[in-house]
Amino acid sequence: KGRPWDGRRKVRTTCPYCGTGCNFDLEVVRRPVAGEPEREEVIGVASAADAPVNGRHLCVKGRFGLSFIHHPERLRRPLVKKEGRFVETSWEEALSFVAERFRAILSEWGGDAFGVLASAKVTNEENYLINRFARGVLGTNNIDHCARLCHASTVAGLAAAFGSGAMTNPIADIAKSDFLLVIGSNTTESHPVLAQKLLQAIGRGTPCVVIDPRRTELAAAATEHLAIRPGGDLALLNAMAHVIIAEGLQDDRFIEERTEGFEEFKAAVADCSPEWAAPLTGIAPAVIRETARRYARAERASIFYTMGITQKRTGTHNVMAIANLALLTGHIGKEGSGVNPLRGQNNVQGACDMGALPNVFPGYQPVGDAAVRAKFAAAWGLDAVELPAKPGLTVGEMLEAARAGELKAMLIVGENPVLSDPDSARVVEALRRLDFLVAVDIFLSETAQLADVVLPACSFAEKEGTFTNTERRVQRVRQAIEPVGQSRPDWRIVADLAAALGRPFDVNDPAAVMAEIARLTPAYGGISHDRLDREGGLCWPCPASDHPGTPRLHEERFTRGKGRFHAVHYLPPAEAPDETYPLVLSTGRRLFHYHTGTMSRRTELAAIYPEEHLEMHPDDAAHLGLTDGDWVRLSTRRGAISIPVRLTEGIMAGTVFTSFHFSEAAVNVLTNSAVDPVAKIPELKVCACRVEIVDPP
Ligand code: SF4
Repeated sequence: KGRPWDGRRKVRTTCPYCGTGCNFDLEVVRRPVAGEPEREEVIGVASAADAPVNGRHLCVKGRFGLSFIHHPERLRRPLVKKEGRFVETSWEEALSFVAERFRAILSEWGGDAFGVLASAKVTNEENYLINRFARGVLGTNNIDHCARLCHASTVAGLAAAFGSGAMTNPIADIAKSDFLLVIGSNTTESHPVLAQKLLQAIGRGTPCVVIDPRRTELAAAATEHLAIRPGGDLALLNAMAHVIIAEGLQDDRFIEERTEGFEEFKAAVADCSPEWAAPLTGIAPAVIRETARRYARAERASIFYTMGITQKRTGTHNVMAIANLALLTGHIGKEGSGVNPLRGQNNVQGACDMGALPNVFPGYQPVGDAAVRAKFAAAWGLDAVELPAKPGLTVGEMLEAARAGELKAMLIVGENPVLSDPDSARVVEALRRLDFLVAVDIFLSETAQLADVVLPACSFAEKEGTFTNTERRVQRVRQAIEPVGQSRPDWRIVADLAAALGRPFDVNDPAAVMAEIARLTPAYGGISHDRLDREGGLCWPCPASDHPGTPRLHEERFTRGKGRFHAVHYLPPAEAPDETYPLVLSTGRRLFHYHTGTMSRRTELAAIYPEEHLEMHPDDAAHLGLTDGDWVRLSTRRGAISIPVRLTEGIMAGTVFTSFHFSEAAVNVLTNSAVDPVAKIPELKVCACRVEIVDPP
């Protein structure tokens, strides 16, 4: 009776899409549902003026992209595959079946026969327990997650340069910079609300240079757009450093007092003149010089970057080259001056912080350190010798080990490597070769379809916990409704699995898990749910309960002591265009969707952006006899897909671009799995391809 908004209740929480970390209120109402008892449902989103990052601002995904919560395809009961078909079963049966198979594999092959994928989508508390399950229950460091595909090179590169692989400054510092350099980031589509802060700064007259092969919305609004050749980043960054040193624009005092390794770095860029870089970057020497001068001469300059820098076989060196520029000019550790890797998913920063990586426990404490192992073992009621000291496999290495028959089982929580990882035919082959695959998800994703058992998880609206956004701000996620169907929160599923294997956890709610995280992870030492509820969010490091958090890193000293220059050298992409594959394929994201589309394609956004296309320059299209809307076969050395073309002057001739959101045009069938040797991040941004006209399907 009455209007549907009668009795509406609001629950403040954090957006489950991107790492900007917007807060909003979920609007919840109790109402009858056909054929089921009356229940509470999420019926809308209201922005909140006091949201710390975004205020009243939300992008289209946060405002209109949440109806996946009640989508009819939500998994409601555990599924076990019998004779090739999924059959619904009870939790008891599913858990005991998984435990039986895990025990058999453990006893025959040992813990390193397992691979575990944690998730940038689930909470810190859940990632922490997945890390505890992999290391403390299965006894393996084979744990990783999709950060391997986005910012593994940031974690490695910035940790080496500064001691901490995270954004150095808060988002609010955008307004305090007097020069903004954005490289390899389609910010307006990937971090829309954060991009608004950049656009507002540009509107107030702050110079902003965007370096990107495509004319993105931000590039079009910027003071200057440098259309760089895909793969030319390191040449450009080294050439900028060359100019700064050649013209004496470096900050000698900062270099002397706060850094080490300058002479070796100076020698490494001595030959990297703008004239040398011009053919590698496609950017005129005079423009490189002017950009370097403007960055160096600014009082407060900030660099922002994402996958265009990191998803390269030189990803770690690209990140180090960015850090070199900041160290050279002293543009770090100050208000409005810093190096800002924009983390992609809602909780990819937190998943890294929580030890969802093969070489570190939570808080980046190395698995090779005996004292660290002893600390975690004592907390988990284990012998230190039970915790493995050798770093585990990355996700790519796990999949190769599965193909080789060395990895026998995987637990994949909330990830979809079949669509997200490069050279996906190999990914499917690897997963099919496993003896046993367990997927935990809210939908039957392309990866879950290959599993032996699928355990239904809760969405963000059905559980308590925290996400850590791109500026290291830990924020609350709050339960707004009861779990859909028989789904369970991921933290409980992992705890249930541990109990079924005879090693129950001694923590049984997210607040208690955060208390354990705080005890064992110095950067999170002062963070608790109670405190977050009172104060609204805290940036780590926050080592004590009376510490206010640290929005800005490296102010007095770098986390590692002194900032470290690195001599890094240009390398071309692993695949160059040739006669057979004459174009360069680059991949990325769209405003209306998110990653493999598991959530966004089950919302109203699917109607706004229903299908994918391939962006192509009109000159290339004319050469191939193509017109807008023609269907083409897009192929690389690894496979082929069919997709319509859209002609645009916003892309550089010789390159084509599409997203990886759509399974019908699964572009990662085509991408190159060549990796950066340090961070093992694949070169998703550049490979050689061919385009041929075909009949529409
Ligand atoms: Fe959510 Fe990111 Fe959009 Fe904010 S900008 S509403 S966090 S998707």
